Amino acid sequence: MEMKDAKRVVVVGAGTMGHGIAQVFAQGGLEVGLVDTDPEILDHALRKAASSLELLAEHGMLPEEEVDLVLQRIHPTTNLEEALRPGADFVIEAVFEVPDLKREIFEKLESLTPADTILASNTSSLDIFGIVRLKDPRRLVVAHWFAPPQIIPLVEVVPGPLTSPDAVKFTASLLSRLGKRPVVMSQFVPGFIVNRIQFAIIQAVLEMLEKGWATPEEIDLAVKTSLGVRLPVVGVVQSLDFTGLRLVRDIELAAGRKSAFLETKVSQGHLGASTSRGIYDYGGRSEQEILRKRDRLYLQMLRHLETIKAFEPV
Ligand code: NAD
Repeated sequence: MEMKDAKRVVVVGAGTMGHGIAQVFAQGGLEVGLVDTDPEILDHALRKAASSLELLAEHGMLPEEEVDLVLQRIHPTTNLEEALRPGADFVIEAVFEVPDLKREIFEKLESLTPADTILASNTSSLDIFGIVRLKDPRRLVVAHWFAPPQIIPLVEVVPGPLTSPDAVKFTASLLSRLGKRPVVMSQFVPGFIVNRIQFAIIQAVLEMLEKGWATPEEIDLAVKTSLGVRLPVVGVVQSLDFTGLRLVRDIELAAGRKSAFLETKVSQGHLGASTSRGIYDYGGRSEQEILRKRDRLYLQMLRHLETIKAFEPV
């Protein structure tokens, strides 16, 4: 299916995520069927979308006169069959995180849609590919959005063992067309990318809070004034190139962990920015040149964070 063919989508579940996902598709010019079992949630979803669109217009990110046009492209209904009747190139499920419910929805979706409709799940924590048994599993893919979906750019696109490469490509292209930043994983792993990292952070935070090692305010200030400045610029992987991979390897060894990945890098002499090659390849640029570029960005980030008073609690 060619990308330009995607004209209509259906979002199943109009809660925290569904209403925002529907809004993004409608902003992208697509007609959207929005389904929820609860009519009050559908009303609430449209009110929240209206309020969010007005905020975007206030910030100059959407022409004021488009607010109503975008809303008119969202068609709420409590009836799944009715939502699918005009056709759908892409359906995304964002209902409660309950395996039996998801299984039931996908069985219905498969029986109510043509074979070329891509069926996606927004699940955060379930192995949807183990739960849902489609007759044609090539159509099933994870498209995992982040709250609030109308603001956060990332959507993780995750194939199951039987998902077709075309379904992955279609999903990623559609998301790009909406202005999102899809990141495609090679295979399903629990937590995908971001939640795997976030789970590790949550464990560390809970331990510190339970043991009283620092107050909530101190922990947040510590993170905002260090990682908060660095991570938007270098991410969590390139960050290691600046720490230096030999040091990271030695820290890991001292903690009793041996990383084959790090051992290979160190044995190849790919130590990070200092050798112009680490996990990233700096194309022969000198360390000084790389650090100047990085530090210019750090300074801009720091100035911006201070300007918006980001180091204070929300
Ligand atoms: P939510 O509870 O806010 O909304 C779920 C909606 O599904 C409810 O409005 C409910 O009425 C509706 N629903 C239940 N059964 C239905 C059915 N049979 N047909 C149609 N609608 C039905 O949940 P949420 O936070 O939006 O999460 C939805 C999904 O998105 C979950 O799989 C969750 O893991 C995932 N997710 C959530 C977040 C988040 O930050 N909340 C982030 C990423 C992914």
